[in-house]
Amino acid sequence: GRAEPVLRLEGVVAGYGDVTVLRGVDLAIHPGEVVALLGANGAGKSTTCAVAAGDLPVTAGAILLDGDDVTGRPAHRRARAGVLLAPEGRGVFPGLTVEENLRTWLESPDPVYERLPQLAARRTVLAGALSGGEQQLLTLAPALVRPPRVLIADEPSLGLAPLVVEQIFALFAELRHRGVALLLVEEKATEALAVADRVAFMRLGRITWTGPRSEVDADRLTAAYLGVS
Ligand code: ATP
Repeated sequence: GRAEPVLRLEGVVAGYGDVTVLRGVDLAIHPGEVVALLGANGAGKSTTCAVAAGDLPVTAGAILLDGDDVTGRPAHRRARAGVLLAPEGRGVFPGLTVEENLRTWLESPDPVYERLPQLAARRTVLAGALSGGEQQLLTLAPALVRPPRVLIADEPSLGLAPLVVEQIFALFAELRHRGVALLLVEEKATEALAVADRVAFMRLGRITWTGPRSEVDADRLTAAYLGVS
C-alpha cells in the first residue's frame, strides 16, 4: 500500500472575516512527493498555504500531519512538528545578520555556507538588507541541514533572477530526494510541472482536479486556468 500522507487537508473551509475563500479543500501530500498547486489568481492557493502552515484558522474541516489532527495547532507548533513555510520564512529576522539568523536554527552555519557560498559571503549583513533571492535562500537554508517533514513554498520564485530561481528549484529537488513533502504554489507553470510528481488544480476555493503530472498536457492546463476543468 501507499505511505500515509504527511499532510492532509480534509474539507477545509477558511476565509477572511465574512469572506469565505476555501470552500472545502481536499489535498494530500506524501513523503518525497512534490505537489504543484496551480490555478488562476484569486483561486485560493496562498490561502491554502496559510491554513496548512497554521497562519490562518479554518472554519470547518481538518488538517492532519502524519495522521495527527493539528487543525487547532498554531503555526509555531506546526513548525516544530516539521512544517516549514516559505517565503514568509518563519525565523528569518530582518534585524539580525545572516549568521545570527542561521544560528537561531542551527548549531553551526558551516554546512549552509558550503552549500550556498553566496550566504557565506554575506554572513555579517543584516537579513533585511539582502536581495529577495538571498532572503529566499536564507529562508530555505536550514531545511538543507535539518529537512522539514513538509515544505510549503508559496510563489518561491516571485520576482527573483533566473539564476536564483534555478538554485531554488535545485534545492527543492534535493529536499524531495531526501523525503521532504513539498507543496509548491508557482506562477511559472512550466517550472512547477518540471519538478512536480502530482498536480492539483484549484478554482474558486476548491480542488477541481488532481492527478499525476504525466496526465497534465497543454489542453488540461488551459482548461484549468480558464475554469472549464
Ligand atoms: P494569487 O495567485 O493572486 O496569489 P491565490 O490563488 O493565491 O491567488 P489567494 O491569495 O488565496 O489566491 O486569495 C483568494 C481570495 O482571498 C482572493 O479573492 C483575495 O482577494 C482574498 N484574500 C487574500 N488574502 C486576503 C486577506 N488578507 N484579507 C481579505 N481577503 C483576502
